[in-house]
Amino acid sequence: MPSERDKIVPKLPEAWLLDMDGTLYLSNSVLPGARELLNHFNQNSIPFCLFTNNSSLSRKDYVQKLSLLGLKAVPSRILTSSWATILWLTKRNIKKVYLLAVPSVCKEFLEAGINLVTENPDMVVLAFDQTLDYDKLKLAHKFLLKGVPYIATHPDMVCPTSEGSIPDCGAMIAFLKASTGREPEVIGKPSRNMVDMASLLLGCTPQSMAIVGDRLYTDMQMGFDHGLLTVLLLSGETRLEDLHQVSQKPDHCFQGAEELLEWIYCSARGG
Ligand SMILES: [Mg+2]
Repeated sequence: MPSERDKIVPKLPEAWLLDMDGTLYLSNSVLPGARELLNHFNQNSIPFCLFTNNSSLSRKDYVQKLSLLGLKAVPSRILTSSWATILWLTKRNIKKVYLLAVPSVCKEFLEAGINLVTENPDMVVLAFDQTLDYDKLKLAHKFLLKGVPYIATHPDMVCPTSEGSIPDCGAMIAFLKASTGREPEVIGKPSRNMVDMASLLLGCTPQSMAIVGDRLYTDMQMGFDHGLLTVLLLSGETRLEDLHQVSQKPDHCFQGAEELLEWIYCSARGG
């Protein structure tokens, strides 16, 4: 008996949003099937983008990182929360920004035609700034107290690294909230803004896209909240036991990219 969901979602989605860390690679190792999955999408002209909340790397940085792992990608296939923020600002014609970000991400904003200013900004933009210092925080604090509109690239409190977790953009949001009482509009997963930017990039409605990821509270939550097909891979953060603890389950769950690709082949053949 098909569920309501089966009636409205095609068996295979038109476009795919692929999380990267824990989905395609783990630290510096490519996960089984990841290369073949990307090859399948590329060879069959299936729309996809590589999707991440991490705004401490530009799209060019990601191309380089992926290439070192032996995964081929072009910048137009990569949607970071900082690139989604650039698209969000451009769509609203906001051109004068006080940005807290690493130099390569600042460059990406400049190349997209956004002026980075330290006086009279139209918007304060907070990214995962690993070069953050007290002077930057002080100036952001000053603008926020003046009531300048404020957005942040993503809400993650910590970022997992090979040396353990490190403070992420969400912790910086908390700092500025403590000093000013202000909270930003957030662009990255699981917000609607990130889905809208993916729709814009891929030319598809959210209902015709799938999100493939390893985190329940960002990747899968975004799919639940905004009507995407949800595909959980157990190759990263989530264990099968974690799935038993949550009430909302993803549409599909696979061990990893290899098993997902087998399912795609099988579905394309009609079961
Ligand atoms: Mg992940």
